[in-house]
This record gives sequence, structure tokens and C-alpha cells, in this order.
Amino acid sequence: RAKAHGRGRVELFDEVLRTQLSAHAEMEEALSAGLAAGEFEVHYQPVMALGSGRLDGYEALVRWNRPGVGMVPPNDFIPVAETSKLICDLDRWVLHEATRQVAEWRAEDRAAAGLTVAVNVSGRHLSDPRVVRDVTDALLASGLPPELLVVEVTETVLVNEPAAFGHLVALRELGVAVAIDDFGTGYTSIGQLAGMPVDTLKIDRSFIASTDSGHAELVALMIRAAHTFGLTVVAEGVEDDAQLEWLQEQRCDYVQGYLLSRPLPAAAAAEAWRAALAPTS
Ligand code: C2E
Ligand code: MG
Ligand code: MG
Ligand code: MG
Repeated sequence: RAKAHGRGRVELFDEVLRTQLSAHAEMEEALSAGLAAGEFEVHYQPVMALGSGRLDGYEALVRWNRPGVGMVPPNDFIPVAETSKLICDLDRWVLHEATRQVAEWRAEDRAAAGLTVAVNVSGRHLSDPRVVRDVTDALLASGLPPELLVVEVTETVLVNEPAAFGHLVALRELGVAVAIDDFGTGYTSIGQLAGMPVDTLKIDRSFIASTDSGHAELVALMIRAAHTFGLTVVAEGVEDDAQLEWLQEQRCDYVQGYLLSRPLPAAAAAEAWRAALAPTS
């Protein structure tokens, strides 16, 4: 009887596993078809320079407008895409679309000439030698000056993917800036970053949201240490005025968060920069 019981459990486990595997395969299939069918779009979240209060540019954030489902957030599909080469196709598409869009805005209005755009690049794509060609192709196709493009990578990529390091060096030689995303959630110290091909730290929003005074001290330290090593700092997930004022006191360089704006579809983002950059006379 114990044996029969055990076999039943194995069968149940098998079934759960099979269901998960087929759900994963279905999602991969749908992502791949969706990319070919143009179901993805890029939303743009403003990044503000704290010193001047000026709009610096945007972070490009992908969305999947899945027929019959609606707008799917990246956390629901990026992890699946990251288990295969699909993530490279998706990241490449976002790179092309975001650089094309910002180049179009620049062509439309001189006020937009200095707008930067930050694109997230997954570790898998960054470890692939093609990443340098993908970025170069996007810059050439769009005509966007390399200085206006920021590539966002997570700290684990720098530490765990030896190939990524050389690719980041090559990207910076092109003039592209490199930002470490979600900083503080991994195990990297700012001292380690000093020798790395990095320009900017983006402090993870969990530290900004925290009301723990220890976390506040940590953020203050991160900002000072980053500046000591010549890095600029972006605070992610700024949701209220108190956080903004405090970050200003700490000499944080840039802020991003719902307080300023949620990520916006391209048309709304264009309205936002027209309003923000309009000459006041
Ligand atoms: P991320 O790069 O750290 O992007 C910031 C995320 O925080 C975005 O979520 C943004 O909407 C959200 N956020 C911004 N301000 C606030 C705030 O004040 N409060 C709160 N609660 N959230 C805020 P989103 O768009 O859902 O993206 C999630 C993650 O998906 C991104 O985190 C990034 O890691 C990944 N991702 C997005 N687009 C791409 C892409 O094109 N390629 C790759 N590889 N990953 C992407
Ligand atoms: Mg990011
Ligand atoms: Mg982030
Ligand atoms: Mg994040």
C-alpha cells in the first residue's frame, strides 16, 4: 500500500511538472509569435535631473499588448523569454524601437535634442557577442547619437558573466553609457564597481521605499561613495515629496518614479516632454 501511495505521488508530481512545462512552452510560443505580429510596445518613464528639475530623458520599458488578454507587464514574460534566445530578439526589438522613437522626437523639435533613453539589456543578451552589433545597428538605423543611449544591466551580470564585461567596454567605446540597475539588491560593493565599465548607479526602489533609518543611511552612503568613484546616481521608485526632498539634500543626481510619472505610451510621453521642455518666455 505504501508503494502504491508513493507511485501516486510520483504521478501527481509528473502531472504538475508536465503542466508547468507546457505552460512555459505555450508562453514561449506566444511570445515568439507576438513579437513577429507586432504585439509589443515600449512605454517611457521620465527621468528628472534633481539639480535643475529638468527632464533628462526616459527609461524604455517593454509591454506586451496580448490579444484577448490586455497589457501584460514585463515581470510576467521576461523571465520566460530569458530561458531562451528569445530574450535577445525581444531586447533587440526594444533597442531598435526606443532609439527610433527618441530620434524621431529629436527630429521633430530641437527642444528634444538632449533627451536620453535608457534600455534594459538582459544578462543573456549582454553575454552574447552579438550585443555590440545589435546596439551599433540600432544607433545607425535610428541616427541617435550614442551619447544619448544608456544601457541598463543588473549587478549580477557584471559579476557572474565574464563575457559581459568586455561587451560593456566595447559599448562604452562607442559612447554609450552603462547603468547598473536595481543596485543594492545583489552583493556588489561600490568599491568593486570602481574598476568596472559603469557610469551610473540606479538605486533599487526597495531602498527608496523603505522607512528603516538604516536603509536611509545606506542610501546616503551609496550616493556619496558613487560620487567619490565618479559615478552618477539615479533613485528609482520615488513616490512622494518627502523622498524627493531628502534625495535632493543627499545630492542624488536623478530621480525616477510614480511621483513624477508612471511609464507612458509614446504619444503621452511626447506630450510630457513638449510640456516639460517648452521654452518659458
Ligand atoms: P526596472 O528596469 O528596474 O524598471 C523599473 C520598474 O519599476 C518598472 O516596472 C517601473 O514601472 C517600475 N516603477 C517605476 N517607478 C515606480 C514607483 O514609483 N513605484 C513602483 N512601485 N514601481 C515603479 P516594469 O515596467 O513593470 O518593469 C519591470 C522590470 O522588467 C524592469 O525593472 C526590467 O528589469 C524589466 N524590463 C522592462 N523592460 C525590459 C526590456 O525591454 N528588456 C529587458 N530585458 N527587461 C525589461
Ligand atoms: Mg531598468
Ligand atoms: Mg531598476
Ligand atoms: Mg527594478
